[in-house]
Amino acid sequence: MSKKKAFKAESKRLLEMMINSIYTHKEIFIRELISNASDAMDKLYFKSLNENLGLNRSDFEIRITPDKEKKTLTIADNGIGMTEEELENNLGVIAQSGSLKFKEDMKSEENAEKSDEVSVIGQFGVGFYSAFMAAKKVTVKSKAYGADTAYMWSSEGVDGYTVEECEKDGCGTEITLYMKDNTDDEDYEEFLQEYKIKSLIKKYSDYIRYPIKMQTTHRHPKEDAPEDAPEEEKYEEHTADETLNSMIPIWKKNRSELKDEDYNSFYREKFYDYTEPLAHIHSKTEGSATYSALLFIPKKAPFDYYSKEFEKGLQLYSNGVLIMDKCGDLLPDHFSFVKGLVDSEDLSLNISREMLQHDRQLKVIAKSLERTIKNELKKMLNNEREKYEEFWKAFGLQIKFGIYNGYGMNKELLQDLLLFTSSKDKKPVTLEEYVTGMKEGQDCIYYASGESAERIDALPVVESVKDKGYEILYLTDNVDEFCIQMMADYSDKKFKSVQGGDLDLETEEEKKEIKEKNEDSKELCNAIKEALGDKVAAVRLTNKLKSHPVCITSDGALSVEMEKVLNSMPTEQKAKADKALEINPDHPIFDKLQFLFDNDREMLSTYADLLYTQAMLIEGMSIEDPVAFSEELSKVLAK
Ligand code: ADP
Repeated sequence: MSKKKAFKAESKRLLEMMINSIYTHKEIFIRELISNASDAMDKLYFKSLNENLGLNRSDFEIRITPDKEKKTLTIADNGIGMTEEELENNLGVIAQSGSLKFKEDMKSEENAEKSDEVSVIGQFGVGFYSAFMAAKKVTVKSKAYGADTAYMWSSEGVDGYTVEECEKDGCGTEITLYMKDNTDDEDYEEFLQEYKIKSLIKKYSDYIRYPIKMQTTHRHPKEDAPEDAPEEEKYEEHTADETLNSMIPIWKKNRSELKDEDYNSFYREKFYDYTEPLAHIHSKTEGSATYSALLFIPKKAPFDYYSKEFEKGLQLYSNGVLIMDKCGDLLPDHFSFVKGLVDSEDLSLNISREMLQHDRQLKVIAKSLERTIKNELKKMLNNEREKYEEFWKAFGLQIKFGIYNGYGMNKELLQDLLLFTSSKDKKPVTLEEYVTGMKEGQDCIYYASGESAERIDALPVVESVKDKGYEILYLTDNVDEFCIQMMADYSDKKFKSVQGGDLDLETEEEKKEIKEKNEDSKELCNAIKEALGDKVAAVRLTNKLKSHPVCITSDGALSVEMEKVLNSMPTEQKAKADKALEINPDHPIFDKLQFLFDNDREMLSTYADLLYTQAMLIEGMSIEDPVAFSEELSKVLAK
């Protein structure tokens, strides 16, 4: 007898949870074990293709054997199998995808209620250990492909496990569950009943592409039974192998056969997401590329979505066989949130990653998927606005990055998916909606940028533009203004920042009037400019302010907001907007400035600084030198 070994700490914790689980759908262990078996056969088949081992798809099968007397359930596959070391590593430690993800999530649930445990088990692929929800002891006999010796892993739970040599014909894995004893609440023996097993396979594993076989018993009327024979003697029982699953992957089925629930549960199991997807796209395309795609738009962005760690991609199948788990080339960055799979007959099976990158077929498919996703999103926007806004909250940023990063190349594709909060109802609107609602004679799309809609709303310039009856788009994400500038226009209407210097909203008369005022106050403005030094590029009077004394605008393409964004990034070179301090000549402060210009130049300089800082604060910028600012403020207050 080999020595008992301890489980690694995390494994032990997961195992404990499985053993003591109060989860009501313990039946999912069947799904988990069958999915592992199917993966193991995929692996061997794939290896065979690459190394010309000469195996056929039809050589593989999963066999389920219930034994009511011994109260065991055995699930066997003839897949790739495990070596002694692999048995140790794979089953003694939580190593792989599903279980690992599960563990990560458990970390945050550490102190949570049991009910959370339930939801976690319910949604995730929890892997091999789920066997312990229904079994008190589990043995795994396995022989790796090409190996001579088989090994048996065996465990009765958290105490540990053993691995020893054993006898086994052929490669593959045979898992035997010694079912727990029935309790008042739980019927574990039910899992040994034919009807139960059949219904579970249909429910969870119908699309597994290898046959899941079981010996089933059927009663037939005896042909030669005498008429008057007792009822039970009129029948005879036959046992025969039956394939329990239809083997058709869900994406190969007809849409009409499938319900939302089928798609949703497939998504949750396959992509380890708690939440149902926001939408699914199931398409079959023939033409320049023939493929089926099953795509999902998640409800929420994964925690690492906006980080470097996130890896985009779709599963790639060639005629039902998985050839790549995350094919990044199938998804453009702006749609990297999409999950799902593509199955194409046109792709060669033993194709390497490098070759795939140059595959023409793959490029055709990727282009076609991009259109499909865009159309689906547009449809959602038109028909299910609320849902779309939910989508936008989660992934809108990515679409905007898409326009910016593509140097405008993706403008046509993505511009109609954009939403910005509008000054009108403080609700998100599309650009099309904005343009449709434009005032007669309006030829620009006005926007303002800042930290939040509230902050923007309080901007001095916004007030006057709104007063003129123009709608303003509020840009509150860092990338927004970069995206808008990259687009330059929409539907032949130029974008125009209300925070820019030249708003051009005045009548000819007003223009003339302010021009004259500027000429009259030229010296005053020059003196203020001098006092501010290179903080501003210009100082001038404006007629766009109503209640505020001053505001900051920017004359070039780089806005004050963009300057802030750029300077928050870790680059050596500092960005600098061409700022202008604009003064409201109708404000009492203007008279005061005039007075100081004539009588107290030092105080004029202090005023200039204070007004500049105040205008910058309103723009959402921080005070460069708080000490100097307070000193100046005190000086004015003490006067
Ligand atoms: P996951 O399937 O999420 O990776 P599991 O806990 O279910 O996690 O399984 C752990 C590992 O054990 C698998 O990744 C696989 O390498 C191995 N394994 C499990 N079942 C089998 C099997 N039937 N045949 C071969 N290897 C298996």
